[in-house]
Amino acid sequence: MTFTDLGDRLTGSLTTDPDILATYSCDQSLYSPAGTPVALVRAKTVDDVVATMRYAHDHRIPVVPQGARSGISGAANAVDGAILLSVRGMDRILDVDEANMTVTVEPGIINQELKDALRPKKLAYPPDPGSVAMCSIGGNIATNAGGMCCVKYGVTREYVRELKVVLADGTLTRLGHRTVKGVAGLDLAGLFTGSEGTLGVIVEATLKLVPLGPDPLTALATFPSVTAAMRAVAAYMATGASPSLLEMMDATTIGMINQIGDFGLDENVGAVLIMQSDATTAAADTEAFAAVAQDNGATDVAFADNATDSELLVAARRSAQPAWEHYAQGHGGGQLLDDVCIPRSTMAEFCDRIEGISAETGAMVAVIAHAGDGNMHPSVFFDSSDEASVARAQDAFDRIMALGLELGGTITGEHGVGNLKSAWLAKELDEGNRRLHREIKNAVDPDGILNPGKMLADL
Ligand SMILES: Cc1cc2nc3c(=O)[nH]c(=O)nc-3n(C[C@H](O)[C@H](O)[C@H](O)COP(=O)(O)OP(=O)(O)OC[C@H]3O[C@@H](n4cnc5c(N)ncnc54)[C@H](O)[C@@H]3O)c2cc1C
Repeated sequence: MTFTDLGDRLTGSLTTDPDILATYSCDQSLYSPAGTPVALVRAKTVDDVVATMRYAHDHRIPVVPQGARSGISGAANAVDGAILLSVRGMDRILDVDEANMTVTVEPGIINQELKDALRPKKLAYPPDPGSVAMCSIGGNIATNAGGMCCVKYGVTREYVRELKVVLADGTLTRLGHRTVKGVAGLDLAGLFTGSEGTLGVIVEATLKLVPLGPDPLTALATFPSVTAAMRAVAAYMATGASPSLLEMMDATTIGMINQIGDFGLDENVGAVLIMQSDATTAAADTEAFAAVAQDNGATDVAFADNATDSELLVAARRSAQPAWEHYAQGHGGGQLLDDVCIPRSTMAEFCDRIEGISAETGAMVAVIAHAGDGNMHPSVFFDSSDEASVARAQDAFDRIMALGLELGGTITGEHGVGNLKSAWLAKELDEGNRRLHREIKNAVDPDGILNPGKMLADL
């Protein structure tokens, strides 16, 4: 069978047009390598995915599964000679089971579109990456995506009940259970969640839902330094608080956000914390947060007393990554985004030492954090046309991951490994764990055709 034969069998489409292939070759990461693919399949049905995987298996052609390509670790980037397999066009909601509070979807549906469809039924699918308006549910599952509400509602894995996946040889199989409980067999749905397209292609997912909560109340605390803000977070979370959002932005980031929109943020501060509670005790929760913030050096605490002002603050936080990209594009184009997750008690030390790393390497670093989770996003900026600037940035990026590991954390809390951090995954895992990873990959994908050169490449 040739490419043309494969194309003829698809409900979707197959193209080898170099311009279209170039468009589909990269995700949103600004500095991760991408190879040259040989074809793009835009699947419309499960049969399209099965046919593509069978063809790739028979011809030993690498396949890169793609959702919406909003990733920021190069995980969906092309590799040389690969078929790009986009499932973005498989975007239907197949079933909303209100009695059992689940939804079954195709993988290409955009996260926000799912949320919008569930809202009239007073149901919610909580995981909310900053990219909520542009990322797909299949991509969220493949990266075990997080977001701002994880501090209360947890990450994607906690919502995955059952997956339908197409394996490397084209076999279609069902993993997990639709039921609330289910311990029959190994937790393979859990294994595939976060596997970044290296084990199979997700073609359907049944997800847990929760009742839609009330609009949250919001507080904004201003601090003289990032370190003070981080101390306040550690103290607040140690009270056993359960905010539905607790985010930090440093002054550098606020300045960049103010360049792209008017969110009413004062950049003449050290850092801000945005806290929300959607509990029935929300008013008391925001007051309790304010008290802890003031005890830990907050110079001001303001309350958003309506949904519009609350939404504006969260929109400002969602604008951080676009604002960074906007800044990078005007200053040499380079940005390397770290994603270390550390114990919350170490966040103040982490931020102090980031300042040291920035001073020692000469690389500019801005920091935001899903602070309630200890998930830190230091962003390193550089001039990608200047070798010395690139080297300084890479040094700072690496030192930040080393610092995260030293403090008892992990190199990635939610963005995934991709090709940006595959060498660091090898450093984080011990030899026993590396061997397990290798053996699982070999068992599931013996020819190594699924997303090679990514997450598992350096193990
Ligand atoms: C502005 C911005 C903000 C962001 N904020 C967050 C955040 O707060 N939290 C967070 O976790 N991430 C965040 N991200 C990163 C990104 O949006 C997530 O990683 C998201 O889950 C990727 O989904 P996607 O559909 O775009 O997947 P893609 O980028 O297309 O793919 C990501 C990985 O999943 C694999 N994959 C995709 N679909 C499938 C499938 N159906 N079957 C098997 N494998 C598949 C790909 O091979 C690749 O390895 C942000 C990105 C941007 C640009």
